Amino acid sequence: MTDLSDRILVQEHFAREHEPSKLNAEETAKLRDEIKDLLVQEDAALVAHYYTDPEIQSLAEETGGCVADSLEMARFGTSHPASTLIVCGVRFMGETAKILNPEKSVLMPTLEATCSLDIGCPEEEFSAFCDQHPDRTVVVYANTSAAVKARSDWVVTSSIALDIVEYLKDQNQKIIWAPDQHLGRYVQKQTGADVFLWDGSCIVHEEFKAKGLQDLKSVYPDAKVLVHPESPEAVVELADVVGSTSQLINAVANSDNQTFIVATDAGIFYKMQQAAPDKTLIEAPTAGNGATCRSCAHCPWMAMNGLENLRDVIVKKDQEITVDPEIREKALIPLQRMLDFSQQRRVAVKGNA
Ligand code: SF4
Repeated sequence: MTDLSDRILVQEHFAREHEPSKLNAEETAKLRDEIKDLLVQEDAALVAHYYTDPEIQSLAEETGGCVADSLEMARFGTSHPASTLIVCGVRFMGETAKILNPEKSVLMPTLEATCSLDIGCPEEEFSAFCDQHPDRTVVVYANTSAAVKARSDWVVTSSIALDIVEYLKDQNQKIIWAPDQHLGRYVQKQTGADVFLWDGSCIVHEEFKAKGLQDLKSVYPDAKVLVHPESPEAVVELADVVGSTSQLINAVANSDNQTFIVATDAGIFYKMQQAAPDKTLIEAPTAGNGATCRSCAHCPWMAMNGLENLRDVIVKKDQEITVDPEIREKALIPLQRMLDFSQQRRVAVKGNA
């Protein structure tokens, strides 16, 4: 993994070097107006992740786009009539949009925005790993390249992972899980499925520390602890609620609790605060004394999305996602399987309500 760790470090450094410059209020307002006009002019819709800058999230909301987790971002693209999707997030999200919508142009503010899970799971190595275990069903997290998805049987996001693995376990299937080892371990523990793990991780969630969280809990004994399952096992064990970004936002909105300690990317605070303006949200502690710039609880690649490069890509159309047609065709199968599964679950839940 050392070579992969080095690659992650290089890309992380690049992302931090290319973080958009800070804008003043006047510049921000001007850019927002410009982008709103351009979206109409170019028949484009903004699809933004919860971890992006609040300015981008609010623009997506105001222009009829979407702000969501990976699953909903994928679903939104297929149901919206716009001919161009502008995906604000990281590269695998743009690729997913393109796989599902080959007839649409999919642009991103920068194609350099990647993810440590994606970098940490190169297709060739992963494929060789799968070949060694031909009896296992291959389940990959959405945070992977199109080529890795093409090698899989199922794609999952954190909001549907438990349901899908539970279903596979009921079919007596043994599983290869990649790339996030922490989420995989959590899913394994919750479902009791036979899961063989790839050892990738998210550099943001890996920074959350159990000792610091334990200390913070003693300062706020009434706070509910919300944890994304990409966090290390010891942090997950301290959680009151473990869930995907959408599930954590719902937990804040629907709980009677007043105070929450939140262990996921800080970008989520925009939506949480919007869902429950009167509640108090506290960032879970990261590396403490050993803090580095990784300890800011904000993804360096999500942070590469800014208003300026967003405006530029709508004008220049130069950061366009392309996916090899053969890979696209293969990757569509496990992706569509996930969307169909999730749709059936929704219908079943509605029917039982
Ligand atoms: S927060 Fe982690 S999992 Fe999400 S895009 Fe960034 S590195 Fe990848």
